[in-house]
Amino acid sequence: MDYGVYHIMFEEEYSFITQRHVVVLPYPSQGHINPLLQFAKRLASKGVKATLATTHYTVQSICAAHIGVEPISDGFDQSGFSQAGNVEFYLKSFKENGSKTLSQLIQKFKNSSSPVNCVVYDAFLPWALDVAKHHGIYGAAFFTNSATVCSIFAHIHHGLLPLPLTPEVAPLTLPGLSPLNFRDLPTFLRFPDSYPAYLAMKLSQFSNLHEADWIFDNTFEDLEAKEARGVVEIWPAKLIGPMVPSAYLDERIKGDRGYGSSLWKPLSEECMEWLETKPLKSVVYISFGSMVSLTDEQMEEIAWGLKESNLHFLWVVRDSEQKKLPNWFIDSTKEKGMVITWCNQLEMLAHPAVGCFVTHCGWNSTLEGLSLGVPMVGVPKWTDQLTDAKFVEEIWEIGVRAKEDKEGVVRKEELQKCLKEVMEGERSKEIKKNANKWRESAIKAISEGGSSDECINEFVESLMASYNKNLNGHY
Ligand code: UDP
Repeated sequence: MDYGVYHIMFEEEYSFITQRHVVVLPYPSQGHINPLLQFAKRLASKGVKATLATTHYTVQSICAAHIGVEPISDGFDQSGFSQAGNVEFYLKSFKENGSKTLSQLIQKFKNSSSPVNCVVYDAFLPWALDVAKHHGIYGAAFFTNSATVCSIFAHIHHGLLPLPLTPEVAPLTLPGLSPLNFRDLPTFLRFPDSYPAYLAMKLSQFSNLHEADWIFDNTFEDLEAKEARGVVEIWPAKLIGPMVPSAYLDERIKGDRGYGSSLWKPLSEECMEWLETKPLKSVVYISFGSMVSLTDEQMEEIAWGLKESNLHFLWVVRDSEQKKLPNWFIDSTKEKGMVITWCNQLEMLAHPAVGCFVTHCGWNSTLEGLSLGVPMVGVPKWTDQLTDAKFVEEIWEIGVRAKEDKEGVVRKEELQKCLKEVMEGERSKEIKKNANKWRESAIKAISEGGSSDECINEFVESLMASYNKNLNGHY
């Protein structure tokens, strides 16, 4: 059904009640704002009033139709995380200032025609649930990792798996999960001292989860039903993904061609013009997302690998990473490639000239590559990327994972080998076929009547039904 028609019918049908109002609160990084903002848009498309609450520093980056946007404070209103200087300090300040300002925001709407009924909060920010409960409204946790990764962390939190994960636990078998080798396990769990504040945050996601009214995860039934079911007793999540703009999947939300948030200036126009001149499926798009920082050595190996592969490439090297590019690189490859500081990744992946996605396997990038049916070369570097890369290569078979040497570097020969395998090798046909199959599956999940769409409808219906009900004794 056309979304516009649906929306009008929905509004007419429910015009006698106050519109339900959900505040959506992401952790303020690109990989978290994107899926939560997309969820807010989905809710708005189903007649719910949705307001995105994000930090002063990131609020300017949001530009999305049909969504309200309101600032809250992390205590670093000028430049956010970089102003804080360290993770622990930042998270502590965000909890203090965020709790206070989220509470003020809920209060602000209290006497309006649309008081807030529910906070959908990034699971990284469990204090938001306490704020919601304090105000007597619903709280829903939104997880931005795969169900597999959530399952592993849930087991650790509940003391069902010891920390650190050592080579002896491998192959790790948990209910519903395919056996995981040591190299597939999230780095924070293998090396708990590497980023203790991040590890603590990821475990804290489960600290008060039993009080949440809903748990959502950005994945979908066909992709991870078995994994989610295996952990349902301690993590009963509804699978609502992939949270990728509608234009690339079901096309039901008019004009929804991008997430509507960019923390850096995208240079998409130049890229699109350049891509127009390239043959079908001939270009390698390469990006390590918004956070990974490569060593100089790794950067040089990738540079050589791209040059010697002689393939067309479009490489996103963020401003802060540019100094690591070897000084010979740009000039000697300008006939073949383009280096940019940021772009609208989805537009690139959707372009017919792009034939391969070299990715760090952040969960959003993984879902985007899968949703757009682009074969991948995984070059995971830290945290959950290693687990995602295993799935890309071995479970969904939509790409390959580049092997690191003993120093943890993917060498130029390895990168070239992987590119060949995905773009022209024996396996490439099978990989392309699987990539198309998974794209169809992603479209089905989020389309009308699909598994994710149904979960979102159930949530919306519960919100509607809660009107006038004395739910949880809070109203
Ligand atoms: N992204 C983008 N432009 C770029 C590179 C990345 O818009 O040039 C987006 C990408 O589409 C994804 C997000 O940034 O939605 C990165 O999230 P992901 O989970 O893949 O990785 P993270 O940055 O969190 O490591």
